[in-house]
Amino acid sequence: MTRNGIHHVTAISGPARRNVDFYVGTLGMRLVKKTVNFDDPGTYHLYYGDESGQPGTILTFFPWEHASPGRIGIGQTQETMLRVPEGSLGWWAQRFVEKGVPHETITRRFGETVLPFSDPDGMKLSLVCVAGIGDEPGWAGGGIPGEHAIRGFHGVSLLVDEGSRTGAILSDVFGLAEAGREGTTVRYRAADTAIGGIVDVRSAGGFLPGREGAGSVHHIAFRAADDAEQAAMVKRLTETHGQRVTAQRDRNYFRSVYFREPGGVLFEIATDEPGFSVDEPVASLGEGLKLPPQYEAQRSRIEAVLPALA
Ligand code: ZN
Repeated sequence: MTRNGIHHVTAISGPARRNVDFYVGTLGMRLVKKTVNFDDPGTYHLYYGDESGQPGTILTFFPWEHASPGRIGIGQTQETMLRVPEGSLGWWAQRFVEKGVPHETITRRFGETVLPFSDPDGMKLSLVCVAGIGDEPGWAGGGIPGEHAIRGFHGVSLLVDEGSRTGAILSDVFGLAEAGREGTTVRYRAADTAIGGIVDVRSAGGFLPGREGAGSVHHIAFRAADDAEQAAMVKRLTETHGQRVTAQRDRNYFRSVYFREPGGVLFEIATDEPGFSVDEPVASLGEGLKLPPQYEAQRSRIEAVLPALA
């Protein structure tokens, strides 16, 4: 196993245009793929990431114009953490004030400096200062100075009733190791990748169950280099952890299997290959509407029902 950690995070949002305005316009992420929900081709699937859309930077949304709001609770992702270089949080706090982005005061967690904020659908996110990442590529094409640009995921926090079985899968299947505890939260960290390498598991027995809707995370995808590594993970999940895993599905930019981990969170394992430049060059990622082959014949009908993004 060479690379561990998060491949992408997929969430549900309200109106697509507002979602693009926030993630591209306010956060300065790159729209790296504009496609449709393969299971519901009359709606978008929007992917944001760094310049080349590398695994570990990809936040995706199913925008539904009339989605009702979700509620954070047991069996869900509580917060999605994004990395920024050291010394950037003051700049971001000022930007959030200027843009009217709801945010909390800068706080400390696991020895790190964190700025929690919410997107227009109430999705909980945070910016986390990480030392030594200033030289990693950021996307400066979105109007954010390169030195402050978001550098992909730091990690996610999950809210579960009791986290030990979730933790066992994170460490045994995905190669994350326990790296600290704060209150009822256990931090798991990948040893060999810095980007998207953290999962905080918060045991919160007695909380209400979550309700999926706008502002809630739909699933977390972990990385597998290729089909063989994915198959090895599936074998371990089924044989050692008694998990039921779906058959592989081709998502054009990666190949995926899904399972609901014991804490109730929907997990995916996505291959690093082939990546987002499989159907358009890196220079123009996200500019055209990309459809999988099975929907290409219906392109004009699909384009007619999708809402305008700008
Ligand atoms: Zn996914």
